[in-house]
Amino acid sequence: MHLFSRLEAAARQERDLSLEDAASALSAPDLSTDSLLELARIPREKHYGRRVRLHVLNNVRNGHCPEDCGYCAQRKTAAPGSIADYVDKSVEEILAEAKEACKNGAFRYCLVSAGRGPGRAGIARYASIIRLIKERYPLEVCLSAGILKDPGLAQELAEAGLDRYNHNLNTSENHYGEICSTHEYADRRATLSTLRSAGVELCSGVIVGMGESPQDLADLAMTLRAEQTASIPVNFFLPVPGHAINEAHTLTADYCLRVLAMFRLANPEAEVRMAAGREMHIGASQPRALLAANSLFVSGYLNVRGSDAATTVQMIEQAGFEVDAAASDLPRGLPEKGEPDGVVLKGLPELRPFQHQGP
Ligand code: SF4
Repeated sequence: MHLFSRLEAAARQERDLSLEDAASALSAPDLSTDSLLELARIPREKHYGRRVRLHVLNNVRNGHCPEDCGYCAQRKTAAPGSIADYVDKSVEEILAEAKEACKNGAFRYCLVSAGRGPGRAGIARYASIIRLIKERYPLEVCLSAGILKDPGLAQELAEAGLDRYNHNLNTSENHYGEICSTHEYADRRATLSTLRSAGVELCSGVIVGMGESPQDLADLAMTLRAEQTASIPVNFFLPVPGHAINEAHTLTADYCLRVLAMFRLANPEAEVRMAAGREMHIGASQPRALLAANSLFVSGYLNVRGSDAATTVQMIEQAGFEVDAAASDLPRGLPEKGEPDGVVLKGLPELRPFQHQGP
């Protein structure tokens, strides 16, 4: 059977995508990107119609991380002062953000913390914050807090009402040693299995453009399928000044589209997100990317500005898609930024809009 026929069978879910075909989809010269996107459109529309979910990130701790992930502006070896760093936001500040998100009709509130992972005290604090949010506001809660391998602590979060845990695998096991030396790929996989066993939905994704091969990306797409990952952010590497990695220049919009299509074919039911770097690397081709992806971030990423909500919604609607308001985290009234020109870092007013306010 020809590659296209095998991919079509995967798109129609008559068979699973194989590792070899996933890697070939990224580079086969006789398979056009448009053909691949048309195949990705089949499972995308089957599971999500023409709907697009919007997501917003809230950094509850920024910087001060002892780890050395080479793609991350928050790692220990990043240049001091390169980002607007701070230790933990207060409970009141987090509740004020959640309240505002709820007021704006958000579906979910995402707490993102820098760091290797939470200890017992950290989990107790997060559990109490999650309980408070769930008691007060009808929001789903997602937490991204690093490595977590203790089943008892994962259970504590689940019992507090945590809906989803984010922990990106980022690349393949084979390539992991090239991007980080302070922890192992196995730590990241164990985190996913621990949270899944506790009954928490998983969000885990990739950063494309860190010197990995098509085989590495195919391997990761298969691993995320094996982990039953519900949500897959596909990030395209943003070269923040001072990063230890500088590979993103190898990315083209065409390749990024193929990557999104491959992740969709490998994970037909997952929420596949066109995540960080969509403005810089996919640019005017973003409407085509929606044939594979059914969600995206608005108002930027952890430390880098991105398209504002109004610009993004206009792009979605002009492409013939619609915002899935019932499953979106609508932005909390941030100032309009328009399209960022290159990599522009966020400042404290964007990262901590409720710093001095209570709930
Ligand atoms: S553990 Fe997380 S916050 Fe720390 S350097 Fe790695 S990615 Fe960045």
